[in-house]
Amino acid sequence: MYGGELMFSENRIINIIYNHDESSVKTYKLLKKKLIERGFSIPETYHEKAELNICIGGDGAFLRAVHRYKFPDIPFIGINTGHLGFFQEILPENIDDFIERYMDKDYVIEKIFLVESNILTINNSFKLLGVNEIVIKGIKSKVVHLEVFINNNHLEKFSGDGIIISTPAGSTGYNFSTGGSIVYPSLNTLQITPLSPISSRAYRSLLNSIIVPGDIFITIKPEYRYENSILLVVDGMELKYDGITEMKFTVPKKTISRLNLDKNMYWNNLKSKFL
Ligand code: NAP
Ligand code: MN
Repeated sequence: MYGGELMFSENRIINIIYNHDESSVKTYKLLKKKLIERGFSIPETYHEKAELNICIGGDGAFLRAVHRYKFPDIPFIGINTGHLGFFQEILPENIDDFIERYMDKDYVIEKIFLVESNILTINNSFKLLGVNEIVIKGIKSKVVHLEVFINNNHLEKFSGDGIIISTPAGSTGYNFSTGGSIVYPSLNTLQITPLSPISSRAYRSLLNSIIVPGDIFITIKPEYRYENSILLVVDGMELKYDGITEMKFTVPKKTISRLNLDKNMYWNNLKSKFL
């Protein structure tokens, strides 16, 4: 075993996570070959001690990887083979350039703020974490009636399709399609965005989104008659709990991180991917 320890400490491991699209598999094979040539180890299954997670696919592939590997501390970088790939900074044709810059440490690591929800039910409690957003909706397309509190101050009785609680990183996702604002990812905030709010003589809800600072907690309580009518959607994944009494939303201390190779990327992306 002599030398084994030295070998191990010098062993640089990179996880490559890819979906099964033809272009992702092709990119995976090429990237793996190039990284091995540079002396990296590419494990067959996810390695907890890797220095980097490279995720090949679209934004959805990135979101699923974060959830599957339980919000790891290992930074992510994405290669886009998806439809939009807003999070996915590298194009498959730029792999060589990426490897050069990675070897030269020519990047910054940026934090991605998350959203956390504590769901209280009559008998239990659950903790959820989201990268983009957590959405509260009604089951069976019903209108939901929710009481909204900010730091225990009653804000409104909301009636409509639901409410999105979006992170800055998620602000260009569902939030944006719903009329919410784009929030620069370094801002520690949550955005409360109404989904088809009803504003009538019968019900009155805010029609626009509110952006709150990250040290505030938002509490949302379904009207008791609707405690079994709530659907939660975390980064596109549906969850259903019985007897929800209260949902509390905060920005957790926990963050994930990603490599940023180009500080103008965000603005270039906004223009090229949305306009
Ligand atoms: P999907 O149906 O493929 O996502 C819809 C689109 O949103 C895809 O083009 C996806 O990019 C893009 N997207 C995801 N996160 C984004 C972000 N932070 N900024 C800009 N665009 C983003 O489903 P999915 O890939 O599993 O993604 C789940 C997300 O879809 C949810 O978290 C939610 O934000 C979003 N969504 C949007 C709507 C809407 O706009 N009406 C409705 C439901 C969900 P890729 O093509 O690269 O995957
Ligand atoms: Mn997708």
